[in-house]
Amino acid sequence: MADVKKYMNFIDGKWVAPTTNEYYDNINPANRDDVIGKYPLSAKQDVDTAIESCQRAFKVWSRMLVGEREKIINKFVALLDENKQKIGEMLTREQGKTLKEALGEPTRGVVECRYFMGEGTRLEGITMPSDRPGVMSVAQRVPLGVVAAIAPWNFPFLTPLRKIMPALVCGNTVIFKPAFETPHCGVMIMELFEQAGLPAGVVNMVIGKGSVMGDAISSNPLVRGITFTGSTAVGQRINETAAKNFTKVQLEMGGKNPSVVANYSKLASAAKQLAGAAYALAGQRCTSISRVIVLEDQAEEFENYLAEETTKFVMGDGMDPKVTIGPVMNQKACEDIMGYIQSAKDEGATIRVGGKQLTGGIYDKGCWIEPTLITNVTQKMKVAIDEIFGPVLVVLRAKNFEEAVAMANDTKYGLAASIFTDDLDKIYYFVQEIESGMVHINHGTVTDGTMPFGGVKQSGIGQFSKGKTNKDFFTQYKVVYTKYV
Ligand code: NAP
Ligand code: MG
Repeated sequence: MADVKKYMNFIDGKWVAPTTNEYYDNINPANRDDVIGKYPLSAKQDVDTAIESCQRAFKVWSRMLVGEREKIINKFVALLDENKQKIGEMLTREQGKTLKEALGEPTRGVVECRYFMGEGTRLEGITMPSDRPGVMSVAQRVPLGVVAAIAPWNFPFLTPLRKIMPALVCGNTVIFKPAFETPHCGVMIMELFEQAGLPAGVVNMVIGKGSVMGDAISSNPLVRGITFTGSTAVGQRINETAAKNFTKVQLEMGGKNPSVVANYSKLASAAKQLAGAAYALAGQRCTSISRVIVLEDQAEEFENYLAEETTKFVMGDGMDPKVTIGPVMNQKACEDIMGYIQSAKDEGATIRVGGKQLTGGIYDKGCWIEPTLITNVTQKMKVAIDEIFGPVLVVLRAKNFEEAVAMANDTKYGLAASIFTDDLDKIYYFVQEIESGMVHINHGTVTDGTMPFGGVKQSGIGQFSKGKTNKDFFTQYKVVYTKYV
């Protein structure tokens, strides 16, 4: 077997070994014999060193002119643009999604970074006429200081960019922890920053287990902001720990995203879009639609269309251009998802399509679960309540539209929601009543690179990321009164 390369943490502009001197294997989820490399199992001490480096670099980075910072960031974005193909291929190998899905991350990254770069020159403050003579009153936006960026594995390239880039543009320095499953995307981002000539310590990356290093990051008083994307359980813990130091948080968490189908004339089109919204990336998107609520009068016809769409996916290695669904992330996720499918059977629901883990050939080297459509589901069933984070879509039936919207809201989450209807009055009612950070009308849950992104209830807290709202998280105000006469 060829030598497996060892990768390092990136601290103070250098690639350094973890103090533990321990490493783990990063394996390709589509082929567990393919080891991508060995990655650090870092400890608190590594985190502390990285945060001290961020703190020192903050003095330099925050005092640079916006235009000087922009030159470096511009170079980074140009490099990102040039390396999209290479990044996409590695992303597929590390995370499992199809190459098409993987290429979408650096591609979208370029768009979002370009947008946010411009915000550097638009960090407007507030001026007001003073209530005293000869006084000028100005509120400036200033950076927070050291910001921690903690990312999940499902968008392992784009999510870190969404966090690191705005932090830097606003003058902060960053300690970045990639997900345990996808450290190589982090390595690729650091390599690009290195090539772009980012000063040492402005971004530091520490690789390892969140369960070991997480508290060291979120409880460190030098960390003044934490931008996190991941599960609600981990977000809750970070929120509690950060609160002790009054550290600002931007938490983007789980969802149980509903779509309501009510009096819609294009049921076949709705089914096609919803199948995509549910099963793309093997359902491992925070904005995946995981519940459809359909009115009884259209339920049978709609379920037939949806069943047909559910059978149209091709599962395999994401590098194969025919494949539309890659493997689920790891063995634990596989067991959890299969457990949910079993619970639906036990609770009396119908597995209308799918429900099985594939076996034989390449399927024995990873975990592929068939896109699974479950009908005859009621609100009390586990599959209707929990975020499954796999290729599973449940259908619930409602007697009338008001009941359907109430069912859509009957969840602790509030990330994304959609509605398919021909009725304008239903659209307005839905937009007003739905408890959700993002609402999609007559389509799945696709978002724009320049619009705010976030959730309500247990799906999110803090300013929405992406777009214009992000600068409200990555800056704070300093109010300055100048007496000039
Ligand atoms: P996760 O287990 O919550 O992990 C997210 C990140 O937090 C990882 O880097 C993880 O490290 C780290 N972490 C774990 N314990 C920590 C602790 N005590 N303190 C600080 N950090 C800690 O989530 P995941 O399984 O990677 O991702 C799936 C979840 O993310 C789903 O719930 C999904 O809905 C959500 N998600 C939400 C959005 C959104 O925008 N709302 C987007 C994508 C995903 P390790 O990897 O080392 O454990
Ligand atoms: Mg892996």
